[in-house]
Amino acid sequence: MHEPPHWRDRPQNERLLARECRTCGYVSFPEHRRICKRCQDEVEWDEVRLQERGTVRSYVVQNRLPDEFETPLPLAVLDMPQETDGEPARVYGLFTETEPDDIEIGMVADADLRQLFDINGLPVHSFKFKLPRGER
Ligand SMILES: [Zn+2]
Repeated sequence: MHEPPHWRDRPQNERLLARECRTCGYVSFPEHRRICKRCQDEVEWDEVRLQERGTVRSYVVQNRLPDEFETPLPLAVLDMPQETDGEPARVYGLFTETEPDDIEIGMVADADLRQLFDINGLPVHSFKFKLPRGER
């Protein structure tokens, strides 16, 4: 697993910049693709901005992992709405600072892009989800 180079240079305030397919409305995030996953075609993309708060669509709690990971480790799939209209982006990441029993499908959570660990000195970033402030 290697970090895509665009993460390293990406300014913090652009971290929730996604791409929307002009043909079908599919939102690609965080990948920058030439081919739309849904259209399966080379398409034009518009840059769109995502909100930092999304809705939990699915999750799983990992209990058996290599020693370097703390368990239980919840992983979740969130839909992150755009700041304006259009489809949400579907994002996968770790759920942190939250008891696994408190996670429910349909609840809202905030997303942060964080450096999780490094591989051979290269930082690896991923999403961390947590309950909105005030609900923790
Ligand atoms: Zn498309």
